[in-house]
Amino acid sequence: MSSKNKIGWNFDNSYSNLPKSFVYEISPVPVKQPELVILNYDLANKMGLDFSNINNKELAKIFSGNSLPKGAKSIAQAYAGHQFGHFTMLGDGRAVLLGEHISKNNQRLDIQFKGSGQTPFSRNGDGRAALSPMLREYLISEAMYSLNIPTTRSLAVVKTGEKVIREKPLKGAILTRVASSHIRVGTFQFISTRENLNELNTLVNYTIKRHYPDISKSKNKAFDLLSKLIDKQIELVVNWMRVGFVHGVMNTDNMAISGETIDYGPCAFMDSFNLGTCFSSIDHMGRYAYGNQPAVAKWNLARFAECLLTLINPRKDDALKMATELIDKFDKIYEEKWFSMMKNKLGLIGDDKEDNVLIFKLLEIMKKQELDYTNTFLFLMEQEIDSKKNYQNEKFDNWKVKWQKRLTKDSNKLMQQNNPIVIPRNHIVESVLKSAESNDLKPFNDLLQALKNPYTNQKILNKYRSPAQKTHEKYQTFCGT
Ligand code: AMP
Ligand code: MG
Repeated sequence: MSSKNKIGWNFDNSYSNLPKSFVYEISPVPVKQPELVILNYDLANKMGLDFSNINNKELAKIFSGNSLPKGAKSIAQAYAGHQFGHFTMLGDGRAVLLGEHISKNNQRLDIQFKGSGQTPFSRNGDGRAALSPMLREYLISEAMYSLNIPTTRSLAVVKTGEKVIREKPLKGAILTRVASSHIRVGTFQFISTRENLNELNTLVNYTIKRHYPDISKSKNKAFDLLSKLIDKQIELVVNWMRVGFVHGVMNTDNMAISGETIDYGPCAFMDSFNLGTCFSSIDHMGRYAYGNQPAVAKWNLARFAECLLTLINPRKDDALKMATELIDKFDKIYEEKWFSMMKNKLGLIGDDKEDNVLIFKLLEIMKKQELDYTNTFLFLMEQEIDSKKNYQNEKFDNWKVKWQKRLTKDSNKLMQQNNPIVIPRNHIVESVLKSAESNDLKPFNDLLQALKNPYTNQKILNKYRSPAQKTHEKYQTFCGT
């Protein structure tokens, strides 16, 4: 089934054709007074969508769900998940999937509204979202895309003209999210609790067809799917570590099988280097702290493996042994990938037996001296930063001398490709969101623009380069807002 119109929507909704237990057909709940806040024309263009002849009033209707595009068939997806280690039945409680748009380069893309009203999975929630967190997801997901990190993207945000009640009344909003799918580890967990082998096979086949077609003829698809996901998640987490990204809520329902970063709730970027960096207001134990992210990814992958055991091998013991052996490879692969990433950040080309020492020594100095993670690499690249004096001490100098001896002709080029000049710094993100709340979108748009080319030195980046002044107040982020 497909349909085309002047915008260029080209829906083909394969997920909604899966067995009834996977989905619940439901429409977005109409909103009072939708108003367009932002539309991502670059992304729309890439997707083969043309909104240039549609006026703002019409756009607001489209991106609020008050008027559904032709060909859309909206559903809420069922899933489960381990949230902070505890298993729960979940599902889209405040999101609906409009369907899959087939883009002009033949990519199958989920179009999802977030904040579109209650569904059977809402539990006690209102199904809604507030403006600031939706703009936050828009900004950070687009920043991640420009940092070359796999991610869902953001097509639009509208205000609903309705209030949402959190600690205080806030402006309601809906985000349109674009993803290569919304299949999560939690989707497998949901299907696996149903103990229906047909359904599990359906999900495995569907996922492979959509994301890993190269293993569609494999003899043990479930085993190979697990192996693929291990690689994808390692690649993703290594990228997060590279730029100092802390996801903040790596529950199994927030881990996408596509390997994209998904669900920008309490995420934030680390300033001074510390493995314990954790911003989320509810993560008291630091389960999802910066340095814990690889361990959590591995833990989540083990939960994924558990869902697949019966397909990996009908003999329980054998299945467990095979899956365990595979998961146990995580640490070695991760270490290699992480090490190679750190070498790139430091411009270390080729191998030297002292590289290890060089990397760990720098991290130790950064931690002890509370040095800004991003700016330390910029300082080494001889980029302008305003806190050079932080690096004028004997320890750093000694390290730098050793490091410089190890550099080669192309070192700087490699560093430039791996070290962003600008990241969405927490204090700046908060400040542009505050302006956006009071209807001044200019600071938000300026920052968004600056984040489009994070590896290229440009004047417009200057005002975004410094970390916040150190205060006693800890920066905090929040979930489910
Ligand atoms: P998240 O923390 O955004 O990953 O959400 C976890 C679960 O809570 C998902 O099933 C969401 O759909 C659901 N949820 C979050 N916020 C709301 C809300 N305001 N109303 C209903 N469900 C929600
Ligand atoms: Mg989620």
